[in-house]
Amino acid sequence: MTERVAKCMCGQLSIACTGEPHFVGMCHCHECQTRSGSVFAVNSAFPNDHTKPSGESKTFTRVAESGRKVTYHFCPNCGTTVYWHGEMLPEMTGVAVGAFRDPSIHAPERAVWAQTRHAWVHEPDGISVYPKGHKYGHETVAPKLVAAT
Ligand SMILES: [Zn+2]
Ligand SMILES: [Zn+2]
Repeated sequence: MTERVAKCMCGQLSIACTGEPHFVGMCHCHECQTRSGSVFAVNSAFPNDHTKPSGESKTFTRVAESGRKVTYHFCPNCGTTVYWHGEMLPEMTGVAVGAFRDPSIHAPERAVWAQTRHAWVHEPDGISVYPKGHKYGHETVAPKLVAAT
């Protein structure tokens, strides 16, 4: 089975993922824009038992619009967020697609939070687009600081 490793910029924090992602989504929400530093994020999800994190991480937890928490794991050395866990989909681990540095990961099949999409961005043809969250996307509007450890 394919194994891919997503890593932070300095390489200290990584997560090995086997198989193909359960889904890949494009997200235009403000939190993904801020987290990634880009105008949208491309996020993948792998079943927890197909992932193996390694290295030291710090975490940041925020509350999504749904009231459920999402906890991000980032490298304390270089600050890159590599993976996260959400209460909405506890059996899955979210992984930043860019951190794989692997162009063979399939294109997103959906885009969420189109209501905050930058005007010049266009989704790939044929994908589902949701104005806000989706049950397999991730949801947020108002970022509320829950805990920074
Ligand atoms: Zn790092
Ligand atoms: Zn998002």
